[in-house]
Amino acid sequence: PARDRSKQELARRRRANLAPALSLSYADPLHIVAGDGAYLVDADGRRYLDLVNNVAHVGHGHPRVVSALAAQAELLNTNTRYLHGTIIEYARRLAATFPDPLSVVMLTNSGSEANDLALRMARTATGREHVLVLDWAYHGNLGSLVEVSPYKFNRAGGDGPGPRVRVCELPDPYRGRYGADGPRYAADVATHCADAPPAAFLHESILGCAGQIEPAPGHLAAAYAAAREAGALCIADEVQCGFGRVGSHMWAFEAHGVIPDIVTLGKPIGNGHPLGAVVTTPAVARAFQTGMEYFNTYGGNPVSCAAGLAVLDVLRDERLMAHAAEVGTCLAAGLTELATRHSIIGDVRGRGLFLGVDLVEDRATKRPATEAAARVVELAREGGVLLSLDGPHGNVLKIKPPMVLTRADAETALATLDRVLAMVGDVTT
Ligand code: PMP
Repeated sequence: PARDRSKQELARRRRANLAPALSLSYADPLHIVAGDGAYLVDADGRRYLDLVNNVAHVGHGHPRVVSALAAQAELLNTNTRYLHGTIIEYARRLAATFPDPLSVVMLTNSGSEANDLALRMARTATGREHVLVLDWAYHGNLGSLVEVSPYKFNRAGGDGPGPRVRVCELPDPYRGRYGADGPRYAADVATHCADAPPAAFLHESILGCAGQIEPAPGHLAAAYAAAREAGALCIADEVQCGFGRVGSHMWAFEAHGVIPDIVTLGKPIGNGHPLGAVVTTPAVARAFQTGMEYFNTYGGNPVSCAAGLAVLDVLRDERLMAHAAEVGTCLAAGLTELATRHSIIGDVRGRGLFLGVDLVEDRATKRPATEAAARVVELAREGGVLLSLDGPHGNVLKIKPPMVLTRADAETALATLDRVLAMVGDVTT
């Protein structure tokens, strides 16, 4: 058919001038040309329910974000070396969503840039180099972040841990060796600190790339205590799980009763417009004032700040955090119900609209159902529902849709999964 020919042609042209290190999703890649709300639309006009995109936080193409971007772009776009009200207002509004003493904002163009800046700040403030991270963590695509991302350096093409990183055990309540005993996992934070006093303990409050893993209860509090005892700063990477996605709190670290020294933001912050942020304390900000200017050509420009402000407005006016709690609870309950009929579901986890489904061949051994998981994703895509996979074994379905997902959308997703899991079950047994 003409459609396939044109997709093949696009794939060929893509290969001609784009690096092969870029990947495409799905065996039959999608040619997406539009998006609205929680849906993506392909070149044939077919609509797909998007459970993957946690960047289009308030919905693909939200009109308020689009018009804020367009209006500011028409008026002015410059760097931050002039006085401009929008960045000041945005910093105030963003800082107001954080607990004290987190009140100082620095703007970047991506989550990676935010994490790179956070590490520079921590290293400058402490005069130290080492960074502690959790196993299988991913913190970004810059060289400085691949260096602290086991998800990258421990896989194909990676060089293993470099001299400036220490990997702490993943406090995984499902597969971890201490089960849900959070503080027990954190013992290795103190051990690493004694070995090489670190600049920072860097973590996500729910690890996305590691397979939607929320640290076992008490882990973060114990890890923070050990890190701070050793003079390190604590950095929460909220790039994936922030901005109310977890439903119960604006920031996922809040669910663990900790207050970081530095928080990094990205993805949903601009609803797809490239924007990132570091939020820190006045003390850390002062320590970073060494005399060297921080200049970032695009970071904090008025267009980006207008997008950021519009996202905060929509989150508030459409009450999306409460909505994420409500729809996420339905979705999680539905997934748990599916588990009563599909033994391939080993674990359902997460918070709000940041959920994971761990697929296993055998519930007793928890052997990952990696191949079946890949089939589930392909079959769901054929059924019009987009999902992705992650985790060390590539067997965890990730559910992190635009926050405007409705209850009806959640029902559609559950019905599709029910059908697809039955098909995969038939194939594997
Ligand atoms: N931190 C986390 C937890 C992430 O998941 C990502 C991106 N997947 C990043 C940082 C990097 O963000 P970006 O790709 O916007 O640079």
